[in-house]
Amino acid sequence: MRTIDLGGVRVDRIVENESLWLDPFWLFHNIDQPTIDRNLPWMQDFLFDRAANRISLSFHSFLIRAGGFNMLVDTCVGNHKDRPGTPFWNQLAGDRYMRDLARHGLTPADIHMVMCTHLHVDHVGWNTRLDNGRWVPTFPNARYIFGRDEFDGHAARQAASAEPINRGSWHDSVLPVVEAGQAEMVGFDFVHSLGLEERVTLIPTPGHTPGHFCVNVEGSKGEGLITGDAIHHPIQFREPHLVNNGDMDVPRARATREALTERLADSGELMLPIHFAGPCAGRIRRDGEGFRYEFID
Ligand SMILES: [Zn+2]
Repeated sequence: MRTIDLGGVRVDRIVENESLWLDPFWLFHNIDQPTIDRNLPWMQDFLFDRAANRISLSFHSFLIRAGGFNMLVDTCVGNHKDRPGTPFWNQLAGDRYMRDLARHGLTPADIHMVMCTHLHVDHVGWNTRLDNGRWVPTFPNARYIFGRDEFDGHAARQAASAEPINRGSWHDSVLPVVEAGQAEMVGFDFVHSLGLEERVTLIPTPGHTPGHFCVNVEGSKGEGLITGDAIHHPIQFREPHLVNNGDMDVPRARATREALTERLADSGELMLPIHFAGPCAGRIRRDGEGFRYEFID
């Protein structure tokens, strides 16, 4: 994805892994082979590997820059995290993420704000780094913005569970930020001004998790919506019934996904998906009874 200029606000991707090839039956619990087969004709090679029958997701943050202000939305899986249940996320030690930041002339100390659309394992990872055996915030000067409903929802689940929730990420990637005093719990009415017209606002999209939100980025020339895990892959525009393995409230997640699709198709607003591979950003178009996704690049 090339730098997107919304007018006074620039958007880039900071990539951890731009195509992780996953078993589609793991990603979507209720998918079947006929559903896959009827979508093969339109899926680009970066979305689906026909020979291996594997589906591709990207893991990246969005970097929002306005004036001298630098903000990251969602922080992937992170390095050195123990994820024994998911081998492809266990003990990662990649250097792409920090190289991408450096490519934009940034170090972790230059990030002023980190925002998480929700608190699942693949959206909080780079929140923390290992420092002499302790998890500390990766971005020492950042305010970390977490949704209040989201935080409270997971806190209640953890209080009721003897096992670590969210594959351990609650303990190694969320709580250390709170303990460091850098977390700020916000309502859906949170607004961060980036200039006269430029700003970041939240759109409640619960279902995947209790307090999931999308992040709307407005510049003087246009806007873009970071959609988090409201939708995982373009196949869901054609097959809205597909349930992601992380959808906590399945009917609500589907209703949210369908409403969001309608909204973006009607407005023509730029979509900034957090898991789409390839060129990533694009627009939703109506196509007969359904929808299709048009990548921009
Ligand atoms: Zn995710």
